[in-house]
Amino acid sequence: MLHKLAVLRDESTEPKKFREVVRELSWLLGYEALADARTRQIEVQTPLEVTVAHQLADRIGLVPILRAGLGMVEAMLELMPTAQVWHLGLFRDERTLRPVEYYNRLPDSATVDVCLILDPMLATGGSATAAIDVLKRWGASRIKLINLIAAPEGVAAVQAAHPDVAIHCAALDRQLNERGYIQPGLGDAGDRQFGTGVG
Ligand code: URA
Repeated sequence: MLHKLAVLRDESTEPKKFREVVRELSWLLGYEALADARTRQIEVQTPLEVTVAHQLADRIGLVPILRAGLGMVEAMLELMPTAQVWHLGLFRDERTLRPVEYYNRLPDSATVDVCLILDPMLATGGSATAAIDVLKRWGASRIKLINLIAAPEGVAAVQAAHPDVAIHCAALDRQLNERGYIQPGLGDAGDRQFGTGVG
């Protein structure tokens, strides 16, 4: 994971390579986060005999936070092809640094047992906390946060508001700067993936 993070942090990494590494890290973090997914016992006939085997019992929901979380979806679907994908649109008001919800098509009640919130950067924790609030109101009982890089401020905010939510991340960085960017970080994860950074 450290090697892959170095590629993401490097400002000279092109969007194509950046997206590739986002996918690879997402796969690894998703594997870790889904290790406690519940299974039920089934019987399977092997070519030699009948044996007890296991089948996924939990319904898994992937909740990418638009837009940066989109790059994490494909890898997670490879890992968990039956997962449902529910997009949440939250942007950060650059003045207040508070999250503003602009897209939410969740049905009335929860259709999954486990929700994995996908967002490359856990910065102030504002968006993560808002997303968790939405999912809890929806009726999701088990929620996990999957981030590539987290700031201590974001981890503290999520743990204070939602101590039941586990955070899976590849790195815990030093701090946020005055604009809410993670340092050393990797810059804007959306711009780096989609090639929309100015200059
Ligand atoms: N969002 C990003 O994309 N990068 C940061 O450093 C913080 C929030």
